[in-house]
Amino acid sequence: MLDEPREIVNATVMKVLPHAIQARHHLHRHPELSFHEEHTARFIAEKLGDIGVDSLQTSVGGNGIIATVIGKNGSGPILALRADMDALPIHEEGDVEYRSEYEGVMHACGHDGHSAVLLGTAEALCSLRTRFAGTVRLIFQPAEEVAAGARAIVEEGGMKDVDGIFALHGWPGMDVGRIGIRTGAMMASADTFDITIEGRGAHAAMPHLSVDPIVAGAHVVTALQSIVSRETSPVDSVVVSVTQFHAGSAHNIIPARAELKGTVRCLTSELRQIMPERVERVVAGVCSALNAEYKINYRFGTPVTINDESMVTLVREVGSACLGEDNVEHLEWPSLGAEDFAVYLGHAPGAMFRLGTGLAKPPLHTPTYDFGDEPLRPGIEMMTQLALRYLAGASIAQ
Ligand SMILES: [Zn+2]
Ligand SMILES: [Zn+2]
Repeated sequence: MLDEPREIVNATVMKVLPHAIQARHHLHRHPELSFHEEHTARFIAEKLGDIGVDSLQTSVGGNGIIATVIGKNGSGPILALRADMDALPIHEEGDVEYRSEYEGVMHACGHDGHSAVLLGTAEALCSLRTRFAGTVRLIFQPAEEVAAGARAIVEEGGMKDVDGIFALHGWPGMDVGRIGIRTGAMMASADTFDITIEGRGAHAAMPHLSVDPIVAGAHVVTALQSIVSRETSPVDSVVVSVTQFHAGSAHNIIPARAELKGTVRCLTSELRQIMPERVERVVAGVCSALNAEYKINYRFGTPVTINDESMVTLVREVGSACLGEDNVEHLEWPSLGAEDFAVYLGHAPGAMFRLGTGLAKPPLHTPTYDFGDEPLRPGIEMMTQLALRYLAGASIAQ
């Protein structure tokens, strides 16, 4: 089912693999937080220059980089491939020899691996550029962990004229050499709310003189649970989590104010749109009953990541051909985690898949997680073959 003889692509992948491994070790050693990926971006841009990409644009949406590899006839469809570059504020506890050199910052989500896969793919596609028609646009995105980078890239024209897009995320708990994907909702939307409950402070011994924002807040937290249990169909998935509750300063003072923060996650855009009204109605009703005032700030963050059916089919076909049919997992359930890759999917059909980084690996966002070197080879092979296959199919269809 592949358009290029697998041996040719494999030989190319093997040739670029040592460079990708080196690049990942360098990136892992020098992790940078969202919006601060200056060194990372400089390093990636330098590597792309050495590789010989056809164009290179830096400082896109902050520290983003967009490079292109143009196929044999200079025209045809444009396929985008995206990797993220930022790290997390966690102190690395693993003992790999390339461990983070920076106190309290590490690549705990494996974005070092995603960037190294895309660098390897860029190099492979440059060697294979006489074998495809069309353009591959490589997007190295900053600030994924704060759900801001994708929007910044798109606002600067990163998705202009793009016909399709793919991305992967390293996945612990899945063997190396396996991938997982599903059609439709792959990841949830992630929106946030800040609620301030204004009451009236008093001596704790005279509660009748107060309007207690802690009691009102406790009722708000409890009542919000009914949105999922009583207002949402049992077959739909929604998360409403209050994750912060701050109030008070002493044992004997009823405070005047309580602050609540939390997140709302959905798997359909329709449900997502009606959640602000539901949340505010509950907060308003409870506060009114208990004589408190409230302010609410509800912010839409990342949309639902919705994988396109035909792009998923392509991932499955390429996965079966490269890794074996048994190694392409059909994911029965989406994750209620969120990914700002969703933003790109609002501009072109695409798909994100999970790439196994090891069955026994610790979870993402923990101090001993490491993407590892082994997933690089299947990652680069998948991305390279997806580009070749997509552009071959799209050229034929034109
Ligand atoms: Zn993450
Ligand atoms: Zn991530």
